[in-house]
Amino acid sequence: MTAIAANLQAVRTRIAAAERAGGQNRGLGDGVPTVKLLAVSKTKSAAAIREAHAAGQRAFAENYVQEGVDKILELGDLSLEWHFIGPLQSNKTRPVAEHFDWVHTVDREKIAQRLSEQRSAGKALLQVCLQVNVSGEASKGGVAPAELVALARAVSAMPHLQLRGLMCIPEPTPDVTLQAQRFAQLRHLLETLNAELGLSMDTLSMGMSDDLETAIAEGATMVRIGSAIFGARGVPQAAA
Ligand SMILES: *Cc1c(COP(=O)(O)O)cnc(C)c1O
Repeated sequence: MTAIAANLQAVRTRIAAAERAGGQNRGLGDGVPTVKLLAVSKTKSAAAIREAHAAGQRAFAENYVQEGVDKILELGDLSLEWHFIGPLQSNKTRPVAEHFDWVHTVDREKIAQRLSEQRSAGKALLQVCLQVNVSGEASKGGVAPAELVALARAVSAMPHLQLRGLMCIPEPTPDVTLQAQRFAQLRHLLETLNAELGLSMDTLSMGMSDDLETAIAEGATMVRIGSAIFGARGVPQAAA
């Protein structure tokens, strides 16, 4: 077994244990959601992604537009699902709309508008999560909770987007209780939005290598895992 295959196995085991520990009881809707694993492959080679694919992984996430598109094209012979999870500037929306299946980091109406306009009508709807700033730092990406209703209403009406849920990247903290509160806040926001706007969002994208158990306990349906699968990261190839 390669290192990546062994790491993937270990992450799957952690996810299954967290689900058994009770995360599913707080899940969305009636059924028991199975938490989906996204392999965060930023700064990692196409060869590393092939290795993960050979070990059964199908969904990958990238942070930098050009680096991500390069890998999507290079790995076009594989049937993979691609998630964009990095900060998105309005002048970089087109390649994302053209090449990715999901975008997790929509935090402004203007970005969503461009993604919808640039998504080809011949393709499946672009699957969208709204990034919410749950820790309240002025510097971080994400829509403020107070502005979320207006954004969700606007995005849910856009023709080439499908609004699937919410995403957050809380500030790292050693305080597990605080971290759990932030994840719980995201779940409450999603439940409130679904009720108030009559939406059926089904995705909570939260949890990374160091806090996936806490996120799943609070209802995560997708976890974004990089270093626990691919090892530590160096400097990004291109800060695109
Ligand atoms: C890099 C990154 C991850 C993965 O982080 P790890 O700690 O390596 O698991 C998840 N989400 C986002 C948005 C990231 O940028």
